[in-house]
Amino acid sequence: MSGVLVILEIQTNSAQRAGRISRISWEALAAGQKLAAAQSLTLTAAIIGADTESLATEIAAKGIATVRVDHPLLAQYTPDGFTLALHQLIQSETPNYMVFPHTYQVRDYAPALAARLNQVLISDVVDIAVQAGDTGPVFTRQLMQGRLNGNYRATGNGPCLISVQAGAFRAEPTQSATTPAAIKPFTPTIEAAQIRTKPGEPFRGSSQSVDLGSAQLIVSVGRGIKEAENIPIVQELATALGAELAASRPICDNGWLSMDHQVGSSGQTVSPKLYLAVGISGAIQHLVGMKGSQCIVAINKDPDAPIFEIADYGIVGDLFEVVPALTAAIKAAKQ
Ligand SMILES: Cc1cc2nc3c(=O)[nH]c(=O)nc-3n(C[C@H](O)[C@H](O)[C@H](O)COP(=O)(O)OP(=O)(O)OC[C@H]3O[C@@H](n4cnc5c(N)ncnc54)[C@H](O)[C@@H]3O)c2cc1C
Repeated sequence: MSGVLVILEIQTNSAQRAGRISRISWEALAAGQKLAAAQSLTLTAAIIGADTESLATEIAAKGIATVRVDHPLLAQYTPDGFTLALHQLIQSETPNYMVFPHTYQVRDYAPALAARLNQVLISDVVDIAVQAGDTGPVFTRQLMQGRLNGNYRATGNGPCLISVQAGAFRAEPTQSATTPAAIKPFTPTIEAAQIRTKPGEPFRGSSQSVDLGSAQLIVSVGRGIKEAENIPIVQELATALGAELAASRPICDNGWLSMDHQVGSSGQTVSPKLYLAVGISGAIQHLVGMKGSQCIVAINKDPDAPIFEIADYGIVGDLFEVVPALTAAIKAAKQ
């Protein structure tokens, strides 16, 4: 093949999206498309599991050549199973580049796969730059909680393995192609004895739990809200907008909202169309989790709050005045 091979992941940990291709996988595909276009390489997607026919059809319908990596022992994720299957796939397809979504699963098996190939994994990539005359693409990773960027170039013989950060590459909804692309089945050779771990039941958030990763609208609340009793003020705004409610870390640490609401370096990474930050200062650990949002609106009484440096729109004011007024205006506009 000698091109770009993107590994897509089947979501398991969300009650709403279980069994579907995860959103960050589409972002990895967008990164792969960028890489392939810049290097004039072919693009192929691969999906791994026990019966991936319908998912492979979904991908191929978008005009993307797809490999179905199917084996009964891949029904549930195991690092041994995935490493074995992908190693064989690489030997068969000989890609120059492999692009993974930077998920917990990928963090688990991709370093082992890279070690098998005597390669490094360039993980959590936020940008890919290819300039005319360059010897190859430059991959950017964030260092020290996003304070510094590091640029990396792959040397030596490939394949070059990269994983991409959630929210770093925008996955535009892809239209169906007039002619679906080809689907190639690939059955790896795996013996049950080669799988050393026994998978338990996959963790699945309850249907009530917050799926911030796929939310298009997010209203996020910070310490400016002062106490738990005031959270409903922001919840009401979220409800009026049809948005998910999220929070900065102190809100979750205090137990005012559950931990699955937390956005940031030790919480979730989100990339909604709208991120409305209410009483959030904009600490770097918060910013790394939401700076990929398409439109950021901040409400803060401090005109020098760092959140305003990345906000598209800023409202300098007391949230206890601004938020109820905004909620009322949205409700009125919807009537
Ligand atoms: C290892 C590590 C990991 C971390 N991970 C995360 C993480 O994942 N997510 C995260 O969020 N943080 C994380 N943090 C914490 C982070 O450093 C900040 O402490 C935190 O983000 C601050 O939250 P905040 O903006 O809500 O609160 P503050 O920084 O206290 O800001 C509150 C803001 O509200 C404004 N305000 C106050 N009253 C009003 C009012 N009436 N109207 C309008 N505005 C008002 C203030 O001007 C201020 O800007 C982490 C820290 C460390 C060390």
